[in-house]
Amino acid sequence: MKKFLIILALLPILTLATTLTLSYYECSKCRTLIQSNAFPSAFNCPSGSTHNWCNLGEVGDRNYQCRKCGILVKTKNYPNSFNCPMGSMHYWYSL
Ligand SMILES: [Zn+2]
Ligand SMILES: [Zn+2]
Repeated sequence: MKKFLIILALLPILTLATTLTLSYYECSKCRTLIQSNAFPSAFNCPSGSTHNWCNLGEVGDRNYQCRKCGILVKTKNYPNSFNCPMGSMHYWYSL
C-alpha cells in the first residue's frame, strides 16, 4: 500500500516533465515559428500546400538570431542550422 501511494505521488511529476520538453519549429516556406512538444501538423501552409517544418532545438533561455532571415529564438543550445528560409543554412549568433 505504501509503495502504491509513492507511485501515485510521482505520477504528476513524471507527466509534467514529458510535456515540458518544448522545441521550436520553423517552416522554411512561410517562416512561421512555433513552440511545440510534438512535430506540428504539416497541413495548410500559407505559402502553398504543406509546411516544411524544421526542428530548431529545445526551448531554453539563450537568445539566438539568424543574421540571414532575422528570426529570433530562445533555445537551450546552439540552434539547428538547417533550412534557413533565405537559403541553405541559418547563421545564428547569440544576443
Ligand atoms: Zn509553412
Ligand atoms: Zn535563417
